[in-house]
Amino acid sequence: MTSTAEWKELESKYYMFLVRRQPMVLERGEGARVWDVEGKEYLDFTSGWAVNNAGHSNPVIAEAIAEQAKTLVQTSNQFYTIPQLKLAEILVENSCLDKIFICNSGAEANEGAIKLAKKYGKKHKDGAYHIITALNSFHGRTMMNVSATGQPHYQELFQPIPTGFSHVPYDDLDAVKEATTDNTVAVMIEPVQGEGGVNIPSVEYLKGVRDWCDQNGMLLIFDEVQTGLGRLGTLFGYQSFGVEPDIITLAKGLGGGVPIGAFLAKDSACAFDPGDHGSTFGGNPLTCAAAHASTKYIIDNEIPENAAKMGEYLGERLRKIQSDNEFITDVRGMGLIWAVEFDSDITPDVIAASNEAGLLMNPMRPNAIRLMPVLTITKEEIDEALSRLETGLANASK
Ligand SMILES: *Cc1c(COP(=O)(O)O)cnc(C)c1O
Repeated sequence: MTSTAEWKELESKYYMFLVRRQPMVLERGEGARVWDVEGKEYLDFTSGWAVNNAGHSNPVIAEAIAEQAKTLVQTSNQFYTIPQLKLAEILVENSCLDKIFICNSGAEANEGAIKLAKKYGKKHKDGAYHIITALNSFHGRTMMNVSATGQPHYQELFQPIPTGFSHVPYDDLDAVKEATTDNTVAVMIEPVQGEGGVNIPSVEYLKGVRDWCDQNGMLLIFDEVQTGLGRLGTLFGYQSFGVEPDIITLAKGLGGGVPIGAFLAKDSACAFDPGDHGSTFGGNPLTCAAAHASTKYIIDNEIPENAAKMGEYLGERLRKIQSDNEFITDVRGMGLIWAVEFDSDITPDVIAASNEAGLLMNPMRPNAIRLMPVLTITKEEIDEALSRLETGLANASK
């Protein structure tokens, strides 16, 4: 059997060095748990980076993938295929949006939404193309999304980058108003900022941006790549705030783990004409069968409701842990995405000690960790995870 050390050696020999990985080689997952090649079990509070919303190796999704793999994996988009249409139907029927385009990742979904907004500007707003996004946002790694993302350190290396974006403070309506010109066609924001630090805006802000877009003939784009499919405690993040966007983008939680993305738009925003956009793999039968099974599972089993309930419990328990540990300066979150912030840069120690205790988490900042379990998580699993976290916190060298 190949050992952890041998797999690590292969990685450093063959894989581009772009990520400092945590030390375990994961082999298998089930529900809220994963196992490494040594057989050690972990509660996974990263869930594939907010992806495995319906749990690891969900049997319903596994069955759908296996069936589709034996039936039809890929065709060109010259033809109609059934899983694509079933996925389109379930997402449109359960959202405020009217039409969908399916692609392969979050970055690609945002890329498509940005192109749609620019086409809309050409068609309906005198060629306006400028898009306002937020500081601390994260929209993906393609060049256009590097420009859209309001974090300079993602941009510096890759200059010159596409123009046409301005970045304003998040949760600040006046900043959006001040940045608006006749050339502004859209505002693109996350309903809750994920990578930016689990930042939860006020309802008034999102409502205010909605009204401002209406008053100025601009589109409101919600990047729901991380918040979509139940993460915030509602099927889509916008429902948690009662604010309907013109366009949303989805990816992470959409496919039950397979790579898939999508953007959906209201009819009024559907400015594309045939040939304006496309994808070879986008809407592929295999990924769509997985995404349809996952989405149907999430809806039929009221997984967003579980995320809301369990999120409240997780938040309560984390606040209790905060009150027992003076070095925890903040606990914030919503649904099943939570951040815990420290008064110093102890994240590496907390993560290492928690890993040892059997809990996987996201090292979000040198002084903050992020917890985003599968949305099927139970109260007992949260209790178990938090007792492992407490062990991790106690054992981290401070
Ligand atoms: C992860 C993420 C993206 C990028 O998605 P990829 O699938 O990695 O391209 C875009 N927007 C948000 C809000 C994300 O969390």
